[in-house]
Amino acid sequence: MIEPSDDAFAERRFLISGESRPAFARYARLHQDRARARRVILAPERAYEVDPIGEAVLALCDGELTVGEIVERLASIYSAPAEIIANDVGKMLQGLADKRLLRDGPDLRAPAPLSFAAQSYSYSPGGPAGLLAELTHRCPLQCPYCSNPLEMERAATELSADEWGDAFRQAAAMGVLQLHLSGGEPTARRDLERILAGAVEAGLYTNLITAGVLLTREALQRLADIGLDHVQLSIQDVDPENADRISGYKGGLSKKRDVARWTRELGLGLTVNAPMHRQNMERLPAIVDFAVEVDAQRIEVAHIQYYAWAEKNRAALIPTREDFLKTIEIVDAAKARLTGVLTFDFVIHDHYATWPKACMGGWAQSIVVLTPSGRVLPCHAAQTLPGLTFDTVRERKLADIWRNGAAFEAFRGEDWMKEPCRACDRRKIDFGGCRCQAFAVTGDASATDPACQLSLHHGRFAALAEAESRVAPPPFIYRRMGGLASSGADVG
Ligand code: SF4
Ligand code: SF4
Repeated sequence: MIEPSDDAFAERRFLISGESRPAFARYARLHQDRARARRVILAPERAYEVDPIGEAVLALCDGELTVGEIVERLASIYSAPAEIIANDVGKMLQGLADKRLLRDGPDLRAPAPLSFAAQSYSYSPGGPAGLLAELTHRCPLQCPYCSNPLEMERAATELSADEWGDAFRQAAAMGVLQLHLSGGEPTARRDLERILAGAVEAGLYTNLITAGVLLTREALQRLADIGLDHVQLSIQDVDPENADRISGYKGGLSKKRDVARWTRELGLGLTVNAPMHRQNMERLPAIVDFAVEVDAQRIEVAHIQYYAWAEKNRAALIPTREDFLKTIEIVDAAKARLTGVLTFDFVIHDHYATWPKACMGGWAQSIVVLTPSGRVLPCHAAQTLPGLTFDTVRERKLADIWRNGAAFEAFRGEDWMKEPCRACDRRKIDFGGCRCQAFAVTGDASATDPACQLSLHHGRFAALAEAESRVAPPPFIYRRMGGLASSGADVG
């Protein structure tokens, strides 16, 4: 664990001054979002809308002009007082610098401008902004909270690189901006470079979600050369032995440290993804330090969502309410300390929540998921719901499935809602929460998410966590191909 001083952090923050020469980092860029008729900054896991004035400022951020020169030019273009412009430009650029999207001076590793291949398509309104592509369910790790289904899809059924490329072009035409190349472990695909090339050609912002253990520097260099934007690296713990025990894989942590270093050396964006549970959360401060040490721009501190393997391992993973609350304090303090150094995404623990999360940004509203065989889902856990059928991109066009597929229509909008959601003011904020959790706890997929305090099941839901978290954790049931039948607890 490193213990950098506040001064060391301050040095790493890019403080905008009149002498700064701002430019986008290798992993951020302006993009014309044609489906929504707007300009956005594409960045790790985000698309920030930019107004015309912001666009005028950013067009001058080439790493050569100083902020003072940018202000002068804008003052002359808009015939406005330079002091007012300087103030507005400074605030805007500092905000972007604190998200680590800007650097001082040009980034010579910045890729060529986006491919415009997608511009020849006819865009359809109302499409998703993100695509989660589970390239394979194969993975050398065996995390007991894995979100893959208990019955994983076999390698023989996986979409080919050409089929993925076709799906990516269809996704771009629907307005998808961000592509998350996930798994299982996406680097287990030998044709990952061809798959990535298809995504870059389609004009998508690419995010590789990886455990990192199969990567070499050369392989990562090739992916960067093709146009990979961002790496999201998962870590199980910063205690090497515990990381091995949780993942069922020996020696993973030192490999991840290497992958993080290579990622930054290549100028790619880096997010550290840290799933939180009772068997690693005492080291949350050290996990944050790890992210700072490897120069990640972002960290996701994500309390486990109890579906699939995690549901089977709930008693082994669920924390006490006090420990959960401590993680909020730790993250709040770290956010304040690390302004401009590390940005945080914090996923709360549902059992101790008051209101539910807007799961997937609302059912069939902003994200679409493709399984390795091309099955199209509104959410990665949707297959846990009974009675839904899922089309595949082998049989039907993605846009048709998104707009008209039975599974997508099932919980889109508000018609499916029952009381108390139906009349609730928050229904446009959280969309009634998570359908999969509602079904898992109440047996009714149309019920209010039990994470909501207005649900009749909320008390029971919270009490279950309190009870399980206060007794010794049972052994892990490790995630394995072949489902629960092949999952022993013998990995040490
Ligand atoms: S959660 Fe663990 S087992 Fe599941 S895909 Fe990720 S690294 Fe592999
Ligand atoms: S009642 Fe439904 S809409 Fe209202 S807060 Fe709870 S889950 Fe959200």
